Amino acid sequence: MTQAETMGSRARREFVSQLPCMACGRRGCANAHVLPKLVSGGGIGRKGHYTTIAPLCVAPVTVVIGGRRQTFAGCHQLFDEHRNIFDRLHPEFDPDIASAWTERAWQAFVASGGAMEATL
Ligand SMILES: [Zn+2]
Repeated sequence: MTQAETMGSRARREFVSQLPCMACGRRGCANAHVLPKLVSGGGIGRKGHYTTIAPLCVAPVTVVIGGRRQTFAGCHQLFDEHRNIFDRLHPEFDPDIASAWTERAWQAFVASGGAMEATL
């Protein structure tokens, strides 16, 4: 997949980065791929289509695990690298719902005229 397919347009990336984190609600988010990549087409890229993206925060979060404090780069790092910890902190987070909601929010934003894209 091309970057446009995995990440979406620049306008969409900026829109998503300004949404609150869908796990904890903090601002300052990455465009996080929260679903396994689609296998259609047989691509071997690690990232899935941009419609599998949800906003996850990147600001430091400290978690006490077994009495020991550990700091991670937000829900994004926890989701990508420490999914067991993420799932314990945010058991309500559903990747399917989060990514579908994100796409709907983007479509609504575009439909409202909020986004302007020009191709020259
Ligand atoms: Zn978060």
